[in-house]
Amino acid sequence: MSVLSVVLPAYNEELMIAKTCRALRGVLSEAGIDYELVLVDDGSQDNTWREIQKAGKTDPHILGVHFSRNFGKEAAVFAGLAHAGGDAVAVMDCDLQHPPEVLLQMYRLWEEGYQVIEGVKKSRGKESLIHKGCVGFFYSIMSKATGVDMQNASDFKMMDRQVAESILSMPERNMFFRATSSWVGYKSTSVKFEVKERVAGESKWSSWSLVKYAFTNIVAFTTLPLQFVTIGGTVCFLLSLLLIIYSLIQYFAGRAVEGYTTIVMVMLLIGSAVMLSLGIIGYYIAKIYEEVKRRPRYIISKIVRGGRETPEAVRHDGPDRAG
Ligand code: UDP
Ligand code: MG
Repeated sequence: MSVLSVVLPAYNEELMIAKTCRALRGVLSEAGIDYELVLVDDGSQDNTWREIQKAGKTDPHILGVHFSRNFGKEAAVFAGLAHAGGDAVAVMDCDLQHPPEVLLQMYRLWEEGYQVIEGVKKSRGKESLIHKGCVGFFYSIMSKATGVDMQNASDFKMMDRQVAESILSMPERNMFFRATSSWVGYKSTSVKFEVKERVAGESKWSSWSLVKYAFTNIVAFTTLPLQFVTIGGTVCFLLSLLLIIYSLIQYFAGRAVEGYTTIVMVMLLIGSAVMLSLGIIGYYIAKIYEEVKRRPRYIISKIVRGGRETPEAVRHDGPDRAG
């Protein structure tokens, strides 16, 4: 019989761990699906790890992984995938905003032979205006860059073992999981779901952290911003051509000295365009530097399996984990 692994990244979710485990246990055991819950504590400052330990003591289906510090959701998802042993692997948020019942729908599709089942949001749930703006801006850029509609994409998905292995075998450190799961290809489909209200705790994303997240993921997934530099340069060049022609006409007409203002304006414009472009290029170089260092994506300090806790001081996903 096949096993379904559910990967749950958790950062400061002490109020949610028990609730989420209970909800998933209810839904999955009722449907007669053999399952495993992989809870990844992303270096929480609250009692999340204690909650995971507690849950692990009472439920042998639970595998807990504890990061040595906060490495971010993408790293947590990755660690979850790496530790999941199921034939199908689902990823969902730990706050029950992704309804567990949808897992069943996804599981049936997986049984039918689909290898990637994406959860697509019907609506975005309740969010503040600024938040909506930031998210909207980010996803419109991402959609253009990837050619996939990201506006309603989510991190809620189910994958076949083979797909999970493909994603795990990718060497890059900065990965945008949401887009990568469709980038890998395979036979895929999607399931619509309604985003639920968070039951307890609060969202871990401030508008500023979203902006940072957006930049990291755009840079991780596409080189499109580098083309802005080229486009900007071309526009500047065309404009300066016009100005050159204009100045030449002025020169031959004998009205040369004027135009101090124009020159200052042109210099400022070109100066700022150059600096902006250097900034974008610099950001990419910084990311390339990060990738070249080949630091691990995350460091695990403890693991709880079958209710027993083991320290994992050196276990991390080094560059050769695929081999
Ligand atoms: N999360 C994480 N590490 C982080 C931030 C968030 O593992 O650094 C987890 C969090 O515990 C939750 C999921 O990612 O399970 C989604 O986070 P949240 O609910 O805060 O995001 P939102 O639903 O508001 O987009
Ligand atoms: Mg949430």
